[in-house]
Amino acid sequence: MNTQTIHAKQKPRILTGDTTTGRLHLGHWVGSLENRVQLQDQYDCYFLIANLHALTTRADRPAEVRQSAIDILLDYLSIGIDPQKSTILLQSEIPAIADLTFIFSMLLSFPRVMRNPTIKDEIRDKNLGENYPFGFLLYPVGQVADILAFRAELVPVGEDQIPHVEMTREVARRFNQLYCEQGNELFPIPEAKMGRAKRLVGLSGPDKNTGNLLKMSKSLNNAIFLSDDPDTVRKKIMSMYTDPNRLRPTDKGTVENNPLWIFHETFNPDQAWVAEAEDKYRNGQIGDVECKRKLIEVLVEFIEPIRQRRSVYENDIGQALDILKAGTERANVVADDTLQQVKKAMQQDYF
Ligand code: ATP
Ligand code: MG
Repeated sequence: MNTQTIHAKQKPRILTGDTTTGRLHLGHWVGSLENRVQLQDQYDCYFLIANLHALTTRADRPAEVRQSAIDILLDYLSIGIDPQKSTILLQSEIPAIADLTFIFSMLLSFPRVMRNPTIKDEIRDKNLGENYPFGFLLYPVGQVADILAFRAELVPVGEDQIPHVEMTREVARRFNQLYCEQGNELFPIPEAKMGRAKRLVGLSGPDKNTGNLLKMSKSLNNAIFLSDDPDTVRKKIMSMYTDPNRLRPTDKGTVENNPLWIFHETFNPDQAWVAEAEDKYRNGQIGDVECKRKLIEVLVEFIEPIRQRRSVYENDIGQALDILKAGTERANVVADDTLQQVKKAMQQDYF
């Protein structure tokens, strides 16, 4: 074992990940990715490509799930996740996670799983109706297993994932209390860490049912992706939802709950310009088009270096897949060890 590995083992662990339902977008960046990139030196990081969880809503679209797994891998590498420091892993190749999901599902009551507010929101926002698969209800428990398989202490996530981390904390406590001696608990109680935007809104405006602005989401067709080219960014911003009551540049506009200004506040490095332009917008002294043009400039400048790094890996998918394979192998060592310890604590270690 070299000194780098010994050092990595002493660091507290991070586990977080993304469902393979599309490519990564600006919401992911401010909600979780930015923290991941920054925390790579302080933590032993595990970033999970959650392809099994994608099947809970897309079992009929395996080719899309596969394409998304590759896209997310390329997105990770292009935003600066460094495979020398962090481990990127593929969920379906970590068998211990499936075993742990089954075991942990015994530590949660059915009504407790159904009380999870994110589950209710997702059923509504993704129009899953009443005939969603049984497995959909299992995915938060699967997420508990993802986190606990790595005995993670920190989970960088957006606001919508807080109920899942809360459930993970409950399961960890319950497991420790039921099966471990005091002072010799197996699981740390993980903390969630939210990004500087807990829930970035999407481009499409308010939900018809609730009137609230929907979050930017891979599956809601309301996202700007970290891999969008400048022309796509321009088209999306030019046709985005802003203040529906403002028809002319001389009309007084509303800044609050207006995605145009939420994006400027979140991504524009020139906050003095933003404050001044918001003032003018409120007073009918600046047009939407001018503010949108500025936003396009800001976003293209942010996305272009990411896209350039991505193109290197796009031309060598084999290299990216080798990184994923090596990471998955490393991750299996940790997850298998957790599973063995779980079985031992539960007196189910026979051989
Ligand atoms: P899906 O539509 O399939 O649910 P998603 O866009 O919600 O996809 P996830 O893979 O579910 O993406 O989430 C990955 C991580 O990114 C989670 O930690 C989640 O909280 C965070 N995240 C997703 N969307 C946003 C957003 N709009 N703002 C802040 N964080 C977000
Ligand atoms: Mg989601």
